[in-house]
Amino acid sequence: MQTLASRCALTIAGSDSGGGAGIQADLKTFAAHGVHGLSAIAALTAQHTRGVTAVHVPPVAFLRAQVDACFDDFDIGAVKLGMLANAEVIHAVADALETHRPRYVVLDPVMVATSGAKLLEDDALDALRRRLLPLASIITPNVPEAELLAGTRVDNAGAASTALGHLRALGARAVLLKGGHLDEGRTVVDRYDDGVTDAEFLHDRLDVDGHGTGCTLAAAIAANLCREMAMADAVEAAIDYIGDALRAGYRPGKGDVTVLGHLAARP
Ligand code: PLP
Repeated sequence: MQTLASRCALTIAGSDSGGGAGIQADLKTFAAHGVHGLSAIAALTAQHTRGVTAVHVPPVAFLRAQVDACFDDFDIGAVKLGMLANAEVIHAVADALETHRPRYVVLDPVMVATSGAKLLEDDALDALRRRLLPLASIITPNVPEAELLAGTRVDNAGAASTALGHLRALGARAVLLKGGHLDEGRTVVDRYDDGVTDAEFLHDRLDVDGHGTGCTLAAAIAANLCREMAMADAVEAAIDYIGDALRAGYRPGKGDVTVLGHLAARP
């Protein structure tokens, strides 16, 4: 038996019936890191490679029952938060985290899918900011998400650094601002700050735009934290994992969408 799998990672997120993003991506990512994956489904999407056709949000009492069942039995090393759909769900998740106090919370502030589908209601932004940022060990926004959360425009390197500071001031202990939306040539710069360490992780811009990349990155960070890595190392290894998974990507449906190939993570 692998010893690594005794510590579990829990994803609280949305399901993607197309298997590329959300809960499905998270569980594949945990497995690729040798970490046992648990899931509490906050929302269900009917989705394929051409978009989201419907969304169903189960009653929050049932979400809470899933989270409690996981904490009642498993040694949870890290929780990953993804699509939470609306303010009521956010409050329920924050209440559950305040009860169970997991060691690490990795918050991917999912708002809009690459396809344009809205995955978080507009009036939920304030709840996300007030309830979840203070509980987050790390938050992993892309540029549009960082702009909405921090309330500042992020259109260049200086503005990105300022946004990192704003997001930490809102309570997130560490921030990884993904730079894919900024035009910095052939290189993408992901900026990281935890108050002690700040770093820029540079990687080549790949021609593929993978579906579920954000979900997978946050899940890989959570898995690496379960493997006892320090936060900055967990982030760097997760960025490497995304590069490998994108290079192993494939197109499972009729749409112009690449799904990540989840190969075993580097030890
Ligand atoms: N569907 C679900 C359930 C998700 O959680 C996410 C991402 O966070 C997406 C879709 C969007 O994935 P992408 O924007 O990478 O296509």
